[in-house]
Amino acid sequence: MADVRVHASDGSLHPADVILVAAGRNPRTEGLGLEKVGVDLDGHGSVIVDAAMRTSAPTVWAAGDVTQHPHFTHVAGFHASTAASNAVLGVRRAVPGTIPRVTYTSPEVAAVGPTTAVGRGTRISTVRHAESDRAITEGQEPGFSRLVIGRGGRILGGTIVGPRAGESLGELTLAVRQKLTTRDLAGVIHAYPTYNDSLWNAAIQDAGATLDKAWVKAVMSGLVRFTRRRVDRASR
Ligand SMILES: Cc1cc2nc3c(=O)[nH]c(=O)nc-3n(C[C@H](O)[C@H](O)[C@H](O)COP(=O)(O)OP(=O)(O)OC[C@H]3O[C@@H](n4cnc5c(N)ncnc54)[C@H](O)[C@@H]3O)c2cc1C
Repeated sequence: MADVRVHASDGSLHPADVILVAAGRNPRTEGLGLEKVGVDLDGHGSVIVDAAMRTSAPTVWAAGDVTQHPHFTHVAGFHASTAASNAVLGVRRAVPGTIPRVTYTSPEVAAVGPTTAVGRGTRISTVRHAESDRAITEGQEPGFSRLVIGRGGRILGGTIVGPRAGESLGELTLAVRQKLTTRDLAGVIHAYPTYNDSLWNAAIQDAGATLDKAWVKAVMSGLVRFTRRRVDRASR
């Protein structure tokens, strides 16, 4: 491996074996005559679409990397199907805003929605894979599963770092899209030992913390006393 050193603009020096340059991608919309049919572009040349994938020209729809949406195969496919059915059926189905994203590094990094607490009323619940029996048995402890949680325990997003993190992301994406809460996720049995049960444990951790309130404890101890009395009476 070549001995490469990266001099960052803050003056720091980073040794590396390989440098990967991500040059980005740009839409090539010039010369197509889009302006003649009234299709508006943004400053980068991307086609501007509304939530139903319709452009500023009422009979033109667009989808994929040519629009301002995130450049992913799954986004292009979903948006193309929405655009096509809207155009053909004359309906105005909107595309969902929940977009999963995976970086296929080692370990894999998968995320949906916000990756960290995004203001008042939001919190995070993290389970490190060093506590996951599956990760321990496979010697893959570096990594974690994290939920970003809003008011009422609603799951807003999260991040999973570890082997096949993108596979576990499906459940998290469904939870975000369906506005599920940590109580909903905590109430679903997960197979053991899986990487997914870290996500489950992050939900249990959060749902359990909401039980740690004085009024909840008072209700619980009242219930315990009542049940004990009933059992005592029945056994007399
Ligand atoms: C190296 C690389 C790796 C990637 N890895 C991933 C990944 O792991 N996961 C993921 O989700 N996404 C990935 N992407 C992004 C993904 O490939 C794109 O988001 C997706 O292909 C977009 O689909 P599309 O149909 O909009 O565009 P494209 O797949 O680019 O298709 C556009 C087609 O239109 C043709 N075309 C262009 N101009 C004209 C014209 N004037 N007339 C006629 N035809 C034209 C092109 O030749 C092309 O065939 C990757 C992209 C790159 C470059």
